[in-house]
Amino acid sequence: MKSYRKELWFKASKRRQIIHITPDVNECLRESGVKEGLCLVNAMHITASVFINDNEGGLHQDFDKWLEKLAPEKPYDQYAHNGFEDNGDAHLKRTIMGREVVVAITNGKLDFGPWEEIFYYELDGMRDKRVLVKIIGE
Ligand code: ZN
Repeated sequence: MKSYRKELWFKASKRRQIIHITPDVNECLRESGVKEGLCLVNAMHITASVFINDNEGGLHQDFDKWLEKLAPEKPYDQYAHNGFEDNGDAHLKRTIMGREVVVAITNGKLDFGPWEEIFYYELDGMRDKRVLVKIIGE
């Protein structure tokens, strides 16, 4: 069995930002040489998410509005977590959007459903953060 590991680094210019990472994951898959297997992609930080959905800008705005209704960033003092930090909202938003995705690899390609793409969702940005890509298979 082959095993491949890579960290992808991101530094979002905003507090919250959705970054399309399917091309990066495809490059990892190519490097791995795996034709049949599984690909795990996970955020390595507890205030960021990796999720799969449509690559459509309106939907991405909707995600952000929806999350902001569920867990508004401000006022900061509404969260018990905030004291030394101001990212209580980001931890909650990450929990809703999830930590990771797993995609099947078939015939050397990510075996997506219609319109599926992989995104990194920065929820407390403006610093360097990582995504782990782990690929196993033959
Ligand atoms: Zn925190």
